[in-house]
Amino acid sequence: MEASAVDASAVPAFTSSVYTFVEDLRAEGTDAVLDRVLGDYGCDTLTVAAAYHRARDVTPHGPARVTLRRDGVHFPPPAELFDGLRLTPPVQTGAEHEPLRTVRRRTAERGAALHGWTVFLHNTTLGLAHPEVTQENCFGDRAAPADLCPAHPEVRAYAVALARSVARLGVDAVVAESLHYGTFGHGYHHERSFVPLGPLEQFLLGLCFCASCTQRADIAGVDAAAARAAAERAVGRVLDGAEPRPCALAPEDLPEPVAEYARTRGATVTSLAATVAEAVAAEGSQLVFLDLTGAVKGYADGLPTGLPAAHEAWLTGVDPAAVGAVVPGYGVLAYARDPARIASDTAAYRAVLPDACALRAVLRPGAPDTDSAEHLAEKTAAATGRGGAGAVDFYHYGLFPFTVLDRIPTALKAAGGDR
Ligand SMILES: [Zn+2]
Ligand SMILES: [Zn+2]
Repeated sequence: MEASAVDASAVPAFTSSVYTFVEDLRAEGTDAVLDRVLGDYGCDTLTVAAAYHRARDVTPHGPARVTLRRDGVHFPPPAELFDGLRLTPPVQTGAEHEPLRTVRRRTAERGAALHGWTVFLHNTTLGLAHPEVTQENCFGDRAAPADLCPAHPEVRAYAVALARSVARLGVDAVVAESLHYGTFGHGYHHERSFVPLGPLEQFLLGLCFCASCTQRADIAGVDAAAARAAAERAVGRVLDGAEPRPCALAPEDLPEPVAEYARTRGATVTSLAATVAEAVAAEGSQLVFLDLTGAVKGYADGLPTGLPAAHEAWLTGVDPAAVGAVVPGYGVLAYARDPARIASDTAAYRAVLPDACALRAVLRPGAPDTDSAEHLAEKTAAATGRGGAGAVDFYHYGLFPFTVLDRIPTALKAAGGDR
């Protein structure tokens, strides 16, 4: 191969980006942010949220020190893509100025890549307006307005149109967040339960039994009604006062009809990822599928335990090997303090993903995962070492103080990824 003639020392070991919000660029100026990310930090890519969800964020160096975000896209949705669709994205204030076109021009001028971070099925505004496309639990409640069901045909059509419209902004990749099932623990914003629910009950309460999901199961020869009844019985027990089952959840802990039913979700998510990836490729870009399992396990404290995230992706209906076979890129959230955990988590994903699928690891440079530049360097090396990821992304520009972001160049230089 010609590649062997290339001087390996001249090629960075991996590529890197920083996640940002359009609000960060607007507040500080696109050039000022690019000076930091591409210049000071030494990254080669900027990842910008093109479609985002509701949040209230502490934004340490923004003009607003606490920022309220809404669901919606930062561009005018192309009419021809959403024509005839019932679901259309809410549009963010300022979208008419096309901020992503500006950042595309500026990154291109600097020879940098631009990724369009896109939240697909986590959208409370759409879910509240169209409850019939949200996930339906075993009791028949539509109680997860933030989670649009990936089996619903109108949701799938929406995902394709959204993917095409982001790709059409000229981004080098569309980074897909929430292109899978949601979790019970995060279906709305202000969840309460005074009934202690174990991992099994939470999983069962998060399972979707809407008409689209049960129809897919029926076609696959799986008894959806039996699964629903088993889920209802298992959760009902605890709601009636029994103790939750004290288990770390594995597929073999599920009642048999539920286990079969849960497996059908893999095909639903994989086929959606494949359709969206094709749509993105048709627009000249490529899809990076974000697998949130690492955040489900480590978001709160950076202390994930138990199985590697790759082995628990099924909880959101994701089969990493199958999805990896239909998308060119796969992103994992390495939200962990321990470099050894990051190395084993990324290696576990790398082991199941096809070689042709590029693996990216997302790291948080500060609390609760990282204490210092040296710590971040160790974790960056762990994520990108032999058998690890070919890219590392730092999450997130607007959410950490500059003193924390300043750890990035040290980490990249130490791990051999600086340009
Ligand atoms: Zn949310
Ligand atoms: Zn469903």
